[in-house]
Amino acid sequence: MRLPIIKYGNPILRAQGKVIEYVDKRICTLAADMLETMHAANGVGLAAQQVGAALQLTVLDISQVEDRPSTMTLNGAEVDPASAMPLILLNPRIRLNEEVVSGNEGCLSFPDITADIDRAVSVRLEAETLEGETVRMDAAGLLARALQHEVDHLNGILFIDRMSSVAKASLSSRLKRLQKETLKG
Ligand SMILES: [Zn+2]
Repeated sequence: MRLPIIKYGNPILRAQGKVIEYVDKRICTLAADMLETMHAANGVGLAAQQVGAALQLTVLDISQVEDRPSTMTLNGAEVDPASAMPLILLNPRIRLNEEVVSGNEGCLSFPDITADIDRAVSVRLEAETLEGETVRMDAAGLLARALQHEVDHLNGILFIDRMSSVAKASLSSRLKRLQKETLKG
């Protein structure tokens, strides 16, 4: 089932996601609904907060993006990122490479707003799957950026927090308008 995507201004986007201790039917259904919602919106990632649940759960799929490549290893083995998609990750723990690169980013909770954001070039991530397995991945390229964006969401951090003050200032009236619209419902 497609879920409504929560927009900027709703305080749940600032909520810290609760760790998922065990996977029940509700979590499986939520994950499936999040995948459907993300795909329908042509997004590459979606966090539980964006559909109104403050949980450590995110889904990603970068397989449709052709102009921004990714590389990844899964449990130590190099894999084709497209073949590993979609990802459903619970309780992710992320470690950032020190090297930083600027890249364009958007967010489904901020329609039509994009900005260049500095992110680590690559990341190492550990998370649980719906099946209760622990997976470890190294990611670079778009996938590394998307993972950082989604893990931020799970901790109540938004991409506007990572923008340069100049970029944020230039968007301030649009952000205020969006916030107002969201609060009006
Ligand atoms: Zn986002």
